[in-house]
Amino acid sequence: MELDQIKGIGPKTLKYLKKLNINSIDDLLTYYPYRYNIYALNELTQTDETIIVSGIIESNPVASYFNHKNRLSFKFNINNRIVNVAIFGRAFLKNSLQIGKSVVLIGKYKGNTFTASDIKTSIKAGDIEPVYHLTSGITNNAISKLIINALEYGNYVDKIPEQIVKDNNFISLKEAIKKIHFPKNMEDINLAKQRLKYEELFEFSFKMNYLNKKNKQENGVLKKFDNNKVTKFIDNLPFELTKDQQKVVKEITEDLASDKKMNRLLLGDVGSGKTIVSTVAIYANHLAGFQSALMAPTEILALQHYFSIKKTLSRYKMTVDVITGSLTAKEKTAIYERVENGEIDLLIGTHSILNDKLTFNKLGLVITDEQHRFGVNQRSCLQKKSMNPDILYLSATPIPRTYAMTIYGDLDISMIKSKPHGRKEIITKVKKENEIKDVLIAILEEIKKGHQIYIVSPLVDQNDELDLSSVKLLKEKYDMAFKNKIRTEIIHGKMKQNEKDAIMNDFKNNVIKILISTTVIEVGIDVPNATMIVIYNAERFGLASLHQLRGRVGRNDLQSYCYLISNQDNERLKVMEESNDGFYISERDFELRGHGDLFGTKQHGDMTFKIANLKNDYQILVQAKNDVEEYIKTSKYLENDYYKTIANNLDIVD
Ligand code: ADP
Ligand code: MG
Repeated sequence: MELDQIKGIGPKTLKYLKKLNINSIDDLLTYYPYRYNIYALNELTQTDETIIVSGIIESNPVASYFNHKNRLSFKFNINNRIVNVAIFGRAFLKNSLQIGKSVVLIGKYKGNTFTASDIKTSIKAGDIEPVYHLTSGITNNAISKLIINALEYGNYVDKIPEQIVKDNNFISLKEAIKKIHFPKNMEDINLAKQRLKYEELFEFSFKMNYLNKKNKQENGVLKKFDNNKVTKFIDNLPFELTKDQQKVVKEITEDLASDKKMNRLLLGDVGSGKTIVSTVAIYANHLAGFQSALMAPTEILALQHYFSIKKTLSRYKMTVDVITGSLTAKEKTAIYERVENGEIDLLIGTHSILNDKLTFNKLGLVITDEQHRFGVNQRSCLQKKSMNPDILYLSATPIPRTYAMTIYGDLDISMIKSKPHGRKEIITKVKKENEIKDVLIAILEEIKKGHQIYIVSPLVDQNDELDLSSVKLLKEKYDMAFKNKIRTEIIHGKMKQNEKDAIMNDFKNNVIKILISTTVIEVGIDVPNATMIVIYNAERFGLASLHQLRGRVGRNDLQSYCYLISNQDNERLKVMEESNDGFYISERDFELRGHGDLFGTKQHGDMTFKIANLKNDYQILVQAKNDVEEYIKTSKYLENDYYKTIANNLDIVD
């Protein structure tokens, strides 16, 4: 049954629901409340606190209107005490509030007047009201009603294996869905949450562990190369590798040289130097006679890698090329051919490399940058593509090792903890918009020193036009402030690739001094001469994003600065002032808002949990993980259609 067949869902409501990413009946049923109002009653006492009382209306409400506002007044009987009630902005309720009706009021009691901020007619004392994330046009009540109407049409595919349901006394899925939306008491909520969280984490762990098992079974290709040449390569770099980098290089080259297939996640804070480590791996793989592929989440980043890696490899007679969306079909075909016949040693591109009809001649190594942006399914698709390449995932998402191991159960983990020698802490300051003059002065000082500036303005809306106009406005302001004397340019997602390339090139070459952008520069851009980043509406970003953005500066031994512009007093922004340490910041992010966007959940389909929270529910995750191990080991999943299908989808078709 389709969503629009549910009673109460017309074209308009359908549109609102779409905005909330509700596209099917099951989406609606699993649109869980994020919290609950509990209408436990308070004693009627004079206090500054908001209290909840229930009673009976004693006099017909009188409405008065003034200054575009309105007020309803009536007498109210609470346990035989009569008080005057005033409630603003609810004149439209006048006719539905008649003498004798019992209602719940929320508000403050002072003098002999109860000033209500809310009135609940359909809720009784002791009721629990679910609270949903909303979009304008749809109310909390409306969502509740739609869910009631949809309840009997759900699919209710129970994803927890029967035996586990029994062992844990889990309630059924249908029961859980009903209780999570319409709980009668706290116990209902707890029972439902327990079950639904476990289910999500079980399915997640299943995917991870299944891949793990598959990977372990697979043999990789043993690669022979001369380690002395690798050492020489490292000696010829313009800098010395840090201890952590050396260790990781060793781990990777050992993986390459063994016949075990590499499945390694390299975790390292922004600017810790993951790219050069990857380049060493690419070089070793080349020495062994194999091609490499490198995938980045955005085209800008792919190009960035292309230019910097090509430069590093130029003296080693390696052919490097890049595929971007702006290439013509003919140009792409030409590259495909050269990849197929083995002329290209390293191919760089976005993850669309996966979807392209591209066959490698002798692919030995695949590196994907910002691993968390690729889902499990994409990962297995990548493995389908070719022979059995070693795989290295790069991630700047600073997660503690234990979490990483639980989450990426199928991967070996390497870490770069320290930054290259000589790096200074980035000085971070939060400024209000009316203090922008301080920022302008600071910018001017940096420019006088020959340095460059990033300015970031966040997505205003999902609306690209609006977005563009806000960066254009910023450029006008800056041009005016600096009297058009400082070359300032915009880079924006809607621009054509060759326009973006031109701008990036001019910025790299220090022709452009100030680069204004939306978050397109978030990942990976490397312009060491940029020493300041100014981030507007900083409160709209998660800590992880802010940390990534800030990582665009502080990329050499110069002192760098980060200005966070926000008119709000925000606890998270203070964390940024306090620390440059990605691991500390991620811990604080955990504390302040659960897992938030720490794991890049927005990009990572497999990690968007609807109800589970990786930090708070870590124990459940560990239990689910153990149960899954047993489930896979004993092959019980073969008896379950749901997991059999998942397994089939993850299987590699040779
Ligand atoms: P990330 O880990 O964020 O991908 P990059 O690989 O882009 O970091 O490295 C950041 C910058 O630091 C680059 O300009 C790179 O050339 C430089 N770099 C990397 N390793 C070292 C090192 N050991 N010493 C000095 N500079 C380094
Ligand atoms: Mg990088």
